[in-house]
Amino acid sequence: MKCPTCNKRVEWEDNPFRPFCSERCKLIDLGRWVDEEYRVPGKPVISEPAVDDEDQRGSESK
Ligand SMILES: [Zn+2]
Repeated sequence: MKCPTCNKRVEWEDNPFRPFCSERCKLIDLGRWVDEEYRVPGKPVISEPAVDDEDQRGSESK
């Protein structure tokens, strides 16, 4: 069996990270699909609500 991330041979028995060879490769693979979900290359998703912030400021001050 090969690790899907780095294609190294994976020890199948007693391996809590299978099908990956290590925790690192498991996290890399996880990060890969998280990236695809957000599809915002180079920009954090948090920056988007900041635009709304200006509108809210106006309605909050009565
Ligand atoms: Zn690996």
